[in-house]
Amino acid sequence: MDFEPSPIQRERCAEISAAVLERFAEHETSTDPEQVRLAWKDAAAAGLTGLCVSQEYGGAGLRALDTALALEAFGRSCTDMGLVFGVAAHLLSCAVPVQDFGTAAAKELLAGMAAGDVVAGNAMTEDEAGSDIGRIRSTATLTDEGYVLHGEKSFVSNGPISDVFVTYAVTDPTAGFLGVSAFAVPRELDGVVVGEPLRKMGLDGCLAARVRFEGCVVPAEYLLGSEGGGGAIFQHSMAWERGVLFAGYLGQMARQLAECVDHANNRRQFGQKIGGFQAVSHKIARMRQRLESARLMLYRACWLLDQGRTDVVAIAMAKTAVSEAAIANSLDAMQLFGSMGYLVDAGIEGQLRDSLPTTIFSGTTEIQMELIARGTGL
Ligand SMILES: Cc1cc2nc3c(=O)[nH]c(=O)nc-3n(C[C@H](O)[C@H](O)[C@H](O)COP(=O)(O)OP(=O)(O)OC[C@H]3O[C@@H](n4cnc5c(N)ncnc54)[C@H](O)[C@@H]3O)c2cc1C
Repeated sequence: MDFEPSPIQRERCAEISAAVLERFAEHETSTDPEQVRLAWKDAAAAGLTGLCVSQEYGGAGLRALDTALALEAFGRSCTDMGLVFGVAAHLLSCAVPVQDFGTAAAKELLAGMAAGDVVAGNAMTEDEAGSDIGRIRSTATLTDEGYVLHGEKSFVSNGPISDVFVTYAVTDPTAGFLGVSAFAVPRELDGVVVGEPLRKMGLDGCLAARVRFEGCVVPAEYLLGSEGGGGAIFQHSMAWERGVLFAGYLGQMARQLAECVDHANNRRQFGQKIGGFQAVSHKIARMRQRLESARLMLYRACWLLDQGRTDVVAIAMAKTAVSEAAIANSLDAMQLFGSMGYLVDAGIEGQLRDSLPTTIFSGTTEIQMELIARGTGL
């Protein structure tokens, strides 16, 4: 068992941190789609939009653990967690299934995705199908021209700026799990209607929208895998998203911890630094312990993925550990900063708002507990 990152991993992370700091030191999170696209260009220039895309398509060809380390470095050095989340979702729930299941024609999208010119959004959730994705009602019917898609997806991260959607629709209503198929749908196709950006609590730098398919004809070559394979493809992409995406939050937690230590060492009350009060120092100790235990679980889940062992329980435990730690640490950071933490400019309240959805997206904590319980013999 070796817990040391290799020299290559260290060097890569240092390079990413330097590249991110260079481009994002003055960056201000924006909800203007044009500004968000510009931020993607900077992320692309730092090599982040193609981390796990094969080198054949201009990506870095990283596997799960190395992608996680890179996303952690991104989250450590960039305060725009919406951007970190959006880039990670583009990679893990979109590039991964296109790369692993796409036809040659679908894989042609990958070069643009790696370069950050083609932004991708994952479109699974529907109004009546959140945790229960078996209830999706979008349909895809094969005709001579291709698959005709009808349906509406309710929460698509990156949606307003996406050039392609990875989506799922029912091709055989009698076949249950085996009746769902996956598609890559270029936005330019007729019948793709993207709604206005949704108003959200946080992750401002990642715009989200509803996406409707109104008789959109998708060429058959954009079917991912085989007809009926969509359920398994979604599970594969979720293993990558749940296992790897949350590394960005490890980065946020590390940055936040450093800010809290600095504040506790410099803020003085009752004639001494507040870090001298045990109630404050133990809060910081607890934050570090949560960060490091979540980090170990995430690294292990990613390592298992790289061994070809998709361990659903390890991934669910890591996802839960990171998301709950991100929220608990953000609440502690707010308390530690006092009234300053409540003001927008200090950035601390934003960390809390960006952390709160982590126990919802990529499968809620309650669903992760179900997976863990089932894998534990219940
Ligand atoms: C920031 C953010 C980004 C997102 N991005 C995307 C995206 O890019 N693409 C996409 O397709 N979707 C996206 N989603 C949607 C996300 O996948 C869903 O919100 C999530 O799957 C939960 O579905 P729901 O919101 O409908 O909640 P529901 O499924 O309605 O759940 C409501 C509550 O009931 C609980 N519950 C439900 N079923 C069970 C059960 N069997 N046992 C115990 N408890 C249960 C849940 O845990 C939850 O607490 C995003 C969501 C957020 C918040």
